[in-house]
Amino acid sequence: ITVSDLVDESYKRIQEVDDKVGAFLALNEDQARTYAKELDEALNSRNEFGLLFGMPIGVKDNIVTKGLRTTCASKILENFDPIYDATVVKHLQNAEAVTIGKLNMDEFAMGSSTENSSIKPTRNPWNLETVPGGSSGGSAAAVAAGEVPFSLGSDTGGSIRQPAAFCGVVGLKPTYGRVSRFGLVAFASSLDQIGPVTRSVEDNAFLLQAISGVDEMDSTSANVEVPDFLSSLTGDVKGLKIAVPKEYLGEGVNEEVKQSVLDALKVLEGLGATWEEVSLPHSKYALATYYLLSSSEASANLARFDGVRYGHRSDNAENLIELYKQSRAEGFGNEVKRRIMLGTYALSSGYYDAYYKKAQKVRTLIKKDFEDVFEKYDVIIGPTTPTPAFKIGENVKDPMTMYANDILTIPVNLAGVPGISVPCGLSNGLPLGLQIIGKHFDESTVYRVAHAFE
Ligand code: GLN
Repeated sequence: ITVSDLVDESYKRIQEVDDKVGAFLALNEDQARTYAKELDEALNSRNEFGLLFGMPIGVKDNIVTKGLRTTCASKILENFDPIYDATVVKHLQNAEAVTIGKLNMDEFAMGSSTENSSIKPTRNPWNLETVPGGSSGGSAAAVAAGEVPFSLGSDTGGSIRQPAAFCGVVGLKPTYGRVSRFGLVAFASSLDQIGPVTRSVEDNAFLLQAISGVDEMDSTSANVEVPDFLSSLTGDVKGLKIAVPKEYLGEGVNEEVKQSVLDALKVLEGLGATWEEVSLPHSKYALATYYLLSSSEASANLARFDGVRYGHRSDNAENLIELYKQSRAEGFGNEVKRRIMLGTYALSSGYYDAYYKKAQKVRTLIKKDFEDVFEKYDVIIGPTTPTPAFKIGENVKDPMTMYANDILTIPVNLAGVPGISVPCGLSNGLPLGLQIIGKHFDESTVYRVAHAFE
């Protein structure tokens, strides 16, 4: 098998299924094929190869790729061709992976179903009537549909783990700071992380290995050692202490979802791990805290889209202020506007103390909840989502129900710790996800536990 064969296979599959699934926004076909040929020649002429040598990969469309259109699924960036590569994309090049194309998402990563893409919806390959989750719906659907074996997503409040759960694939949000955010179009900078989406835990560890590490272009990337993640895939969980938060198996969580978690815990017990119920008492404030903080940060981050420096510029403006207003009014979708308004309000003088500052304090309490549990336990386990994938259109009119979907993933971003979703059964023919949460920079233990299910 050659790299060209792999790349052919990927484009062939995209041709076959992507008009139904809708995972890709742009293809990189000419470059990918040329690069595949180069790699095939290298196969004969050298004996050292990159970590992801010849592996086809899809990249979420909020990660900038030089010369390859990057839209964040927004009209405001409809014609935007970046002039540089994100650090993770450089890492992929060093690892000799082949970029197949760019993947659909909720506009600027705001959403949980990929229905907020201003370009097209993505459908769940398991059942085309249901959503793939979001915001990295394209990343999860492309892997689930066999279009690419690897993809990159981003996770601010669950956007890798929730779609991974809905599409029956493996998705990891790394520890905040593990992976450089340079070249990730910012949504909420204190929460955003890029992470791997794959079919297996082993593939996931390979991809994280390739993209991790401190970066001088991102001052929030952490200068900590990157361990050999693959060496933790031993399947040995003997003596491991697992915490199960009672808040994660409470009200609003579907019975089959609860049962699948209890079944998974039995498997781990059988392998010599132990588990106990614990409490993360501030969980009930996580959703409100997240939406205040993430929207505040988004309102500041999205101020750069002014119709002057990037993307869409209105033709109908008579003066500068109108140019700003109309370019943004025409370019942003409804959900993005809702977040900008909410965030601007929470940051405005007179409300700042009551909302933004208060939310920051609650964030500290939520983080402390995790620290307390991790003093005694190695990992925290619960469901990734309260329900399996919902129907397309079911939640679009009701933002609060849509937001509630992330109730189990959001606290992990607020605390900055790593979390993975691995497939753990089916409900009505739709996949369910098991969430395994670890200590700061302890992705190794998260992978070790996740691997026990393979
Ligand atoms: N669904 C959440 C939101 O809409 C999380 C999105 C994300 O993680 N990017 O904000």
